[in-house]
Amino acid sequence: MSTWNPWRGCHKKSEGCLHCYIHRADAGKRIDTNRIIKTDEFYKPIEKDAKGKDRIKSGQLVFLCFNSDFLIEEADEWRKEAWKMIRQRRDLHFLFLTKRIERFSIGLPEDWGEGYPNVSVCCTIENQVRADERLEIFRKLSIRHKMIIVQPMLEKIDIASYLDASIECVVVGGESGKDVRPLDFDWVLDLRRQCMENNVSFEFRQIGSIFIKDHTVYHVQKQFLGAQARKANINYTAVPASSTD
Ligand code: SF4
Repeated sequence: MSTWNPWRGCHKKSEGCLHCYIHRADAGKRIDTNRIIKTDEFYKPIEKDAKGKDRIKSGQLVFLCFNSDFLIEEADEWRKEAWKMIRQRRDLHFLFLTKRIERFSIGLPEDWGEGYPNVSVCCTIENQVRADERLEIFRKLSIRHKMIIVQPMLEKIDIASYLDASIECVVVGGESGKDVRPLDFDWVLDLRRQCMENNVSFEFRQIGSIFIKDHTVYHVQKQFLGAQARKANINYTAVPASSTD
């Protein structure tokens, strides 16, 4: 597992961005998150170490642009170069999240075709309005590996009509930090039901810092958010198509 942050900075885009972790972390360091800049690891995937070996070792999953949004406007020109490096490193698998799926086709390489096999695109949604807006676009795009990220989940959301065989997984989680918006376990269970009914894998990634279960409100410390979600033991793995024929 590796990371590649070719640029940093982002603008708040929708309701889910209210307590963005990048903005929060930058505020403490007096960094202007709204300034989008290239980083000094822009060429990381094609860089070599002192022994002439790839800086990112072959076969790894690379988390791309976790200090920004890969599809942000200011990076349109830079992204063309990033795509070239992604194509060059077919021995790596790149994964990015975006709240800007409507910009996906801007600067897409000519040989994208049905999608590069080494790229996973995760469309992030947070409420019903953003789900309908973004997933309608997402479903029409040619992408080999698609995931839906529902985080922070802000309300009960119906995405059943978007759950076809192209979606590899739906990941759900709450918001973390102080004064955040609550996550209701009933919303999570309802989303899980939708995934199971449509045979799409489901992962409960983290509960929220404010978590509601059986009408009781819990305040949970950050270090327990992931563990508590795992403890719920509600993840679901889709049954392979050949087994359901
Ligand atoms: S799109 Fe993502 S990175 Fe950008 S402000 Fe929103 S939450 Fe933060």
